[in-house]
Amino acid sequence: MSTIAQAKIFFGSAEENKEVQQERKSPFDSAVVSSAPVCDAEDTLKALDIAKAASKAAARSPLSQRILWLEDVAKRLMEEKEAFALMLAKEVAKPIAFSRIEVERCVETIKITAMELANLAGETLPTDIMPSGKKTLAYFKREPVGVVACITPFNFPLNLVAHKIAPALGAGNAVVLKPTPEAPMTAYMFAKLFVDSEYAIKDALSVVYGDAEVGSALVQSNIPRVISFTGSVPVGNIITKQAGIKKVSLELGGNAATYIDKSADLALAAARCAFGAFYNSGQVCISLQRIYVNEEVYDAFAELIAQETKKLKVGSPYEEDTFMGPLIDEESRERAKSWIASAKDEGAKVIAGGEEVEGIFPPTVMADVTDDMKIICEEVFAPIVSLVAVADYETAVEKMNDSPYGLQFSIFTNDLKMTQQFIEDAECGGVVVNDIPTLRFDVQPYGGAKLSGVGREGPKWALEEFTEIKSVVIC
Ligand code: NAD
Repeated sequence: MSTIAQAKIFFGSAEENKEVQQERKSPFDSAVVSSAPVCDAEDTLKALDIAKAASKAAARSPLSQRILWLEDVAKRLMEEKEAFALMLAKEVAKPIAFSRIEVERCVETIKITAMELANLAGETLPTDIMPSGKKTLAYFKREPVGVVACITPFNFPLNLVAHKIAPALGAGNAVVLKPTPEAPMTAYMFAKLFVDSEYAIKDALSVVYGDAEVGSALVQSNIPRVISFTGSVPVGNIITKQAGIKKVSLELGGNAATYIDKSADLALAAARCAFGAFYNSGQVCISLQRIYVNEEVYDAFAELIAQETKKLKVGSPYEEDTFMGPLIDEESRERAKSWIASAKDEGAKVIAGGEEVEGIFPPTVMADVTDDMKIICEEVFAPIVSLVAVADYETAVEKMNDSPYGLQFSIFTNDLKMTQQFIEDAECGGVVVNDIPTLRFDVQPYGGAKLSGVGREGPKWALEEFTEIKSVVIC
């Protein structure tokens, strides 16, 4: 009998399996760690029909029940923290200490969503501002959209699901989730917490597994009124073209940057930058990829960040003190290696990392990087950070903005005027001062400018994405 954890389809509240299974192998040691049914377009349409049928009851369900539902899921997720953390370590090779952090953060995301639900209200409007509006009462209210389709990526396979399904269900919608093919069991275990809750709305959540075929079937259907997607720019582009008339919310790639001013605390900046560049093997949409350093402090900073990088333990995701495990797959590893090789050919220098550690691509700091090298102008999504010396703030911000992406940027400085100027100048969705751009609190709006996306997440803003305004006037 197989001991491999087996994810199952949720057709609403009913669990189903299929004969054809896709095995998931650990990116660390290739051991088979889970499996999931291979779904097709027909399964997807079935899940959508179930969601459509459930959406009326979901919309009419009391808010108090939905808040209890989310609170119950958050509580049970916390109780099962170790099991979830271990599954993250298995399916995506996230080091166990950071896997636990992802679970804890997911609990917070759900709790904040439950709190924000209490504020999901409309407002009365002063129609008597016009003479014809005298004696009328006008207001708007927010209503669930009906069915929301959620498509999620591999890098935070638990928390990024929570960022979508908690607000979508909390707002009174029915949801069809298509999680990343890289972590089906994590998504199944999480969905089960929702479905098995005593406060669950029957059939409000369905889960199907697969890749482009299933994703496309969701996107092209007329049933979902919102497609909520987090993933790469190329897939975001396909979705935009296929979706037709419905709301599409896109959380896409990035190329996060920071400026190290000569007034900055260099030791603090170097330690934080090493974290922000290499956390989760650089597989974070706001991973620090470009560091523009004032030329007066460039050499000192380069030495400090190289030292910080060499301290990071690379290895098994199951060991407590591992900072960084392997990349998600062989293709990503090969891409990282070839981009480093071509940067070296073009004159860049490796000042830390570069050589694989037991088959794991290591945290790598590149110096003397020029603007047109792939490692700096394309989303690297690997543990590679580039240092560039700049004469002043103006040059740094010009280079930062010279990118098709605009997710988050940061600055390290003790100059208040420069800080204020940077907040104005940065062409991106979020600015961080005196820390890495890899910082996000779930009470903040989160999303990108330019190719980095359309729309905002963070529970308060996701609730707006997953609701529609109804305008009312009583005469
Ligand atoms: P990806 O785009 O390859 O896949 C994301 C999801 O889309 C997966 O579930 C995949 O199965 C699905 N998909 C693939 N083809 C599809 C299609 N034709 N139609 C519909 N769905 C389809 O991304 P990934 O490799 O899992 O994640 C990495 C990318 O995600 C990076 O670019 C990263 O920057 C981005 N990301 C962005 C954010 C953000 O909040 N902005 C957060 C995390 C990751």
